[in-house]
Amino acid sequence: MSFSSLGLSEQLVRATSDQGYETPSPIQQQAIPAVLSGKDVMAAAQTGTGKTAGFTLPLLQRLAEKPRTGKGPRALILAPTRELAAQVHDSVNQYSKYVPTKAAVVFGGVKINPQMMKLRKGLDVLVATPGRLMDLYQQNAVRFDEVEILVLDEADRMLDMGFIRDIRKILAMLPPKRQNLLFSATFSGEIRKLAEGLLHNPVQVEVAARNTTAEKVKQSVYPVDQSQKTALLSKLVRDNAWEQVLVFTRTKHGANRLTQKLERDGITAAAIHGNKSQGARTRALSNFKAGEVRVLVATDIAARGLDIKQLPQVVNFELPNVPEDYVHRIGRTGRAGESGHALSLVSADEGKQLAGIEKLIKKQLPRTEIEGFEPQNNLPVKPKAKADPSKARGRKPQGANKGKSFGPKPAGRSGAGRGRGGAGGAGQAQGRGRPGQQRRSA
Ligand code: AMP
Repeated sequence: MSFSSLGLSEQLVRATSDQGYETPSPIQQQAIPAVLSGKDVMAAAQTGTGKTAGFTLPLLQRLAEKPRTGKGPRALILAPTRELAAQVHDSVNQYSKYVPTKAAVVFGGVKINPQMMKLRKGLDVLVATPGRLMDLYQQNAVRFDEVEILVLDEADRMLDMGFIRDIRKILAMLPPKRQNLLFSATFSGEIRKLAEGLLHNPVQVEVAARNTTAEKVKQSVYPVDQSQKTALLSKLVRDNAWEQVLVFTRTKHGANRLTQKLERDGITAAAIHGNKSQGARTRALSNFKAGEVRVLVATDIAARGLDIKQLPQVVNFELPNVPEDYVHRIGRTGRAGESGHALSLVSADEGKQLAGIEKLIKKQLPRTEIEGFEPQNNLPVKPKAKADPSKARGRKPQGANKGKSFGPKPAGRSGAGRGRGGAGGAGQAQGRGRPGQQRRSA
């Protein structure tokens, strides 16, 4: 299977060879012919599957088939975050090296005037975040009457971020006759509703089964008390000589705090999240890519769309509240044929999140205790056969009761569980040699 056998022109194939791609990824094998055929496409694909080239290459080919007559844009690509928009724009530029297509990107957080100037000059492909695109439209800086192809990239995340109203407004302004491509990591009810109103007889493209985690990613859970997480992370970075690790926290504050603590520990680190200026985010990312910063600490939203090649190690410093975010997070490692490791530091108060994740990915994650960091408080995971009514919520994650989880914590999950009050009992409960749970030193 080659890019040219999918129907791509010689110019576009040459651009993929320049990138070092030898064979199309599964999503590309399915999406490229579908987009070339002119049909609408609904694709379930996460970051890391090669989805960007999956829609960009055929889109460029369709645009190259006839030249632009007005100022454009002729293709509109909407993305949830500035980072993703910037990366998609980079990809468009790389793949359009040998075709005469002009592209631009617009997103919020930076001055609007230079973006207006770019639009005035005329272009074929516009990559945009929805909010800034609306601003530009309201200031008469962009028109949509030449749009032939619309792409919604990471549509699920756009909805999560509250862009649905902007998206609907934009859709209402586009010419009705156009090709629509919708890419989303997950297909929730809301996405399906959006898809129904948007897509006409779409070709459905799906690579990995929905909501399953990348198979190449080895996943583990290290149970540890909250208060010991930073120390454990420092130790892991040192002992394993990790040179490039992406660490997720739940909050922006958490990201800042962790970054400072790591720096104090002598480990170079930078935070990337929504409160940082665009410049600071770009700098953090490029320092990380250049190997000047060992640990990049990110929140879920900021991490979306970060294109970092071959990231061997992802750490969840805290589990996300939304289980799907776990899937996105670990999709950052084991990309494009590489294997990777996603490790979660899980404290007793995160049992609910862990259970939600294991239910979504339909498997139990192996737990490993690290010597010297054994938690005082067990994870309040599923009770065995008999449910504790205070915790049972009717449904249990599949496979969670196979004896691999931690024993139920005696004190329930009151807020006190975070402290050191667990006495010795909890620790002992873990030494029972449950299958799947080992102890090792890092
Ligand atoms: P994406 O899922 O679009 O974010 O792409 C993930 C990564 O895979 C990017 O770094 C791409 O440059 C890379 N990539 C895309 N297509 C291929 C391919 N056919 N072969 C190898 N790498 C690829």
